[in-house]
Amino acid sequence: MGKVWFVGAGPGAPDMIAVRGARLLSEAGAILYTGSLVAETVLQWAPKGCEIADSKSMDLTQVTAWLLEHARRHETVVRLQTGDPTLYGVLAELARPLDAAGIPVGIVSGVSSAMASAAAAGECLTLPEITQTVIFTRLSERTRMPEGESLTALAAHGCTLCIFLSIERIEDVVAHLTEAGWATTAPVVVVHKATWPDEELVLRGTLEDIAGRCRDAGVERQALILVSPALGARSHASTQPSKLYDAAFPRRFRPMREAADPGAEAPDAD
Ligand code: SAH
Repeated sequence: MGKVWFVGAGPGAPDMIAVRGARLLSEAGAILYTGSLVAETVLQWAPKGCEIADSKSMDLTQVTAWLLEHARRHETVVRLQTGDPTLYGVLAELARPLDAAGIPVGIVSGVSSAMASAAAAGECLTLPEITQTVIFTRLSERTRMPEGESLTALAAHGCTLCIFLSIERIEDVVAHLTEAGWATTAPVVVVHKATWPDEELVLRGTLEDIAGRCRDAGVERQALILVSPALGARSHASTQPSKLYDAAFPRRFRPMREAADPGAEAPDAD
């Protein structure tokens, strides 16, 4: 009996998959990928003779049956998902029957489109003194939002929001943010197909005009909406430098040059 690996393909470009994920693809006897989202170029890491199927037109039962059947015949079976497999997928539902059948399951992280979108736009999701919190969320649709997680409630925190699966309803996103108190001039970045060769598109606007910009650019799916007080920080000359790089602020691996407060230690960060 084989092992089923849930592997994050990364956001799109084939070289954005983790080395471990690419190695597992190269060893796979069978790969089931989400054709509607995963760029097929990522499959270039698959070996010759590997059984490859697209789950685009399968329902959950068929996907489960496919994984169970192939795990009986191959040592390594890969379920390839977009971005990181632990975010907005059906990993738990798919792993449950595998667990029940005694088939071992492994998970390999991928670069989430939230990270790739920030990088594509040249933005940081956190900024010292401005925001230190990132919320990954979406609008409710068929998947109802749990109590207390409406976009208005989450946006009221004023921190960074990475909004998945909601570009089709950008007007509703704007309405929630406005209701939460965000100014109409607040910057918004929409990244379509981050890292996809020749297809990546970064749109910048404000709450007031971003919906129109998306419409004009024909961006209707596979896009991430970034809202944050940290957007555009590189052009803000007044931003306070991070304490982390302050010579007087000791870090575990960097001896303090001037001891301002010997007891203080900054948290680990890059
Ligand atoms: N697990 C994935 C998310 C899957 S849900 C991850 O970690 O990224 C699918 C949603 O992810 C899309 O609706 C879109 O909001 C976002 N998305 C996926 N790939 C993207 C990309 N290359 N660029 C921008 N957004 C993307």
